[in-house]
Amino acid sequence: MRPPVPEVTGQPLTTAGQPQILVTGCPGCGCTHRHLAFGERRAPCGCKYIVTTPREDQP
Ligand SMILES: [Zn+2]
Repeated sequence: MRPPVPEVTGQPLTTAGQPQILVTGCPGCGCTHRHLAFGERRAPCGCKYIVTTPREDQP
């Protein structure tokens, strides 16, 4: 059985280049990481998590 993958909320970040997703409070190291897309990602620190959108699936 695989251990559960933690979910974190990503904040869309508008840049001059392609859009990035900012993850604050990494469950592994507590730092901020940047990603290029939502979904399951592996952070530079080695922690694996699922990046979710800030507003969806919420009533
Ligand atoms: Zn981290």
